[in-house]
Amino acid sequence: MFNSVSDIVSGIREKKFTPVEVLDFYYNRISRLERKVKAFISLKPYEELKQEALSLDKSHKGKLLGVPVAVKDNINIRGFKTTCASRILPDYYPPYNATVIEHLKREGAIFIGKTNMDEFAFGSSTENSSFHTTLNPYDLTRVPGGSSGGSAAAVSSRMVALALGSDTGGSIRQPASFCGVVGVKPTYGRVSRKGLVAFASSLDQIGPLSVNIEDSVLLLEVISGYDPGDSTTVKNQPSCIPSDGFRNLIEEPLTIGYSPALLEGGVEEEVVDTFYEALELFKKGGFKLKEIELPYLKYGLSVYYILGTAEASSNLARFDGIRYGLKHNSRTIKEMVEKVRGEGFGPEVRRRILLGTFALSSGFYEDYYIKACKVRALIQNDFFKAFQEVDMICLPTSPDLPFLVGSKSDDPLKMYKADLFTIPINLAGLPALNLPFNLKNGLPVGVQLIGRPFEEATIFQGAMFLERERGPFTPPAIEEPLTPHPRIEYGADSTLPLEEEV
Ligand code: GLN
Repeated sequence: MFNSVSDIVSGIREKKFTPVEVLDFYYNRISRLERKVKAFISLKPYEELKQEALSLDKSHKGKLLGVPVAVKDNINIRGFKTTCASRILPDYYPPYNATVIEHLKREGAIFIGKTNMDEFAFGSSTENSSFHTTLNPYDLTRVPGGSSGGSAAAVSSRMVALALGSDTGGSIRQPASFCGVVGVKPTYGRVSRKGLVAFASSLDQIGPLSVNIEDSVLLLEVISGYDPGDSTTVKNQPSCIPSDGFRNLIEEPLTIGYSPALLEGGVEEEVVDTFYEALELFKKGGFKLKEIELPYLKYGLSVYYILGTAEASSNLARFDGIRYGLKHNSRTIKEMVEKVRGEGFGPEVRRRILLGTFALSSGFYEDYYIKACKVRALIQNDFFKAFQEVDMICLPTSPDLPFLVGSKSDDPLKMYKADLFTIPINLAGLPALNLPFNLKNGLPVGVQLIGRPFEEATIFQGAMFLERERGPFTPPAIEEPLTPHPRIEYGADSTLPLEEEV
């Protein structure tokens, strides 16, 4: 087992092992564990990956030299299908790489496969994937969270060293919490969205998932930066790398804001306990704690389900049977669009399009969309005021422990509440991360740290402190079958090799 990405890269550079040996280590785990966890939608055949690993030049200066990475299936990689876990995109091969992928390639990363997700990133459990449900590596009867559940499960079960997800309302942090890994939602505008299939353009950000903070800092640094292909990215960004941490913290202790009022009602006991245990560690370490009020946060879910669906309904208009994906031979255009969208989109996608179209329709636009925009500004203002008094805010990541497969899938409102603590951060465009903190009843529970815009370095510093004080986090103990399954085929042209081949 490798402890960190820098171990992999320095090991390759110092010739302790080769990129092929690193690939074999991870691919071997995939061939033994993927059948249980089902984190991927498509996997690159082993032989092709081996050729890539062989062709990596050892003098390559890349920060991710030979590091196996998994990518959520709503981010474009040339040569891989992008499905967004939807039937409407059965065979879309993007003609270009997302900007984040270009950055990773330049640093020598190897793309292992595309990970499972809720269809078009609508969901909190990965059960909305139209292919299969990914399972939580800590307990295979439970969900991995969502919508980036495949990426979180792949990292958690150590089938890859790093993964990319996307977060519109919590889709990186919540599955990271459920799967016991680190997940980061960067400041809006830090990372390019070019090549990410848009859900809600004013909220979406791509971000890293990893087993520790150090690896997420590295991956975020690689994918950050201004991109002429995305006009919302920011030029001259402050670095996300924390200044040499711990000495600094003693000389200039940071203040952490928390709001007990937000924990009342609907939050599981284990989550509340974990949260206060984390605060206690901060206090012992010399951090200052300060109670703050965030009175408008309780409207976050309502605002999100108006603005998020409004933007999604408009973004998803492009799936019309002409430009992308599913086709239908019909006599009229109307019939064709109806057939393609009716058959191609799953139930949650249809629900969101209906809600969003309604919120934007004339007669209702002022009452819903405009009002939600105003309340969004009030939520932003809550954070703005709090950050005049504190350096970062600590909240739980999810109000729930990882729940049982099927336990919320019939009740959309219950499912929507899983993002209570993550959604307001997207509405305000702030950076936030999940740090796995505890195992309760064998299930991971995380805490969330939220920072000022472009102050990822500060939350990383706080998280590194907690990570060190917390001690090593127990990985999932998935018992491994003796005889690997000879061949698994998923939606795309993916094949797993026999173990002997690896
Ligand atoms: N679970 C939330 C939703 O269903 C957030 C999804 C996301 O961040 N992509 O909208």
